[in-house]
Amino acid sequence: MTLEINNLTVEIEKKPIVKNFSLKIGPGEIHAIMGPNGAGKSTLAKFLAGHPAYDSTEGEVLFLGKNLLDMEPEERSHAGLFMSFQYPVEIPGVNTVQFLRIALNSSRKAKGLPELSEKDFELLLDEKMKVMEIKPEFKNRNVNEGYSGGEKKRNEILQMAVLEPSLAILDETDSGLDIDAMRVVARGVNKLMSKDKSLLLITHYQRLLDYIKPDFIHVMVDGKIVLSGGPELALELESKGYDWLENTPES
Ligand code: ADP
Ligand code: MG
Repeated sequence: MTLEINNLTVEIEKKPIVKNFSLKIGPGEIHAIMGPNGAGKSTLAKFLAGHPAYDSTEGEVLFLGKNLLDMEPEERSHAGLFMSFQYPVEIPGVNTVQFLRIALNSSRKAKGLPELSEKDFELLLDEKMKVMEIKPEFKNRNVNEGYSGGEKKRNEILQMAVLEPSLAILDETDSGLDIDAMRVVARGVNKLMSKDKSLLLITHYQRLLDYIKPDFIHVMVDGKIVLSGGPELALELESKGYDWLENTPES
């Protein structure tokens, strides 16, 4: 199993947001979590990345068989977990190329691989930037500083392309993207998928799932998965919305 979440409860300021949540993701699988705003989707993603504001009061999370919750955020990343946030942060004063090279080299170091020289890294980066249709001039810019929403999302996937994680969690990567930018992002993501890599897509809307085909779809309402199914579920949700799944008797 790549990721195994068992009966997880996540709180913020003593308020449970993710409640008794379980999910298993196998190698090569693409899962989507959909659900209304406020369901706790981003909370789950940030908690898995190791965001300090969130605490778990119950449950366990195993990543590639290891206890994820014992690991520091950078150890999670070195172990092959990647997270793209709904609102990517700007890092003023930090050059994009240096940032990506340091990120890749620290992950290579943790794996016992030799670091890439500036020259070798740039060759790799040029190739990945081409896939993501990012203009070479972005190499001279600071990470996300002054980027448009779409450029930030593309840059997130560029990071993913450089790091080649075992599991990528993409939170609302489609938000703020026009159709052309979404196609580029989806193509970049699809190109990275392989039989040992997994993906967790978090999205409010169905449209991204036209371009990145999930194997499983889960609907999250009020901190829990209330329904799971195959890709056909996305179309049903598109036409019926989420209302019919909310206000179930137990909530
Ligand atoms: P989603 O991504 O599904 O829209 P979120 O995980 O962003 O949902 O939010 C779930 C709930 O947690 C919301 O009710 C939100 O107000 C609450 N929440 C998220 N972050 C905080 C915070 N820092 N402090 C208090 N409540 C929060
Ligand atoms: Mg969210």
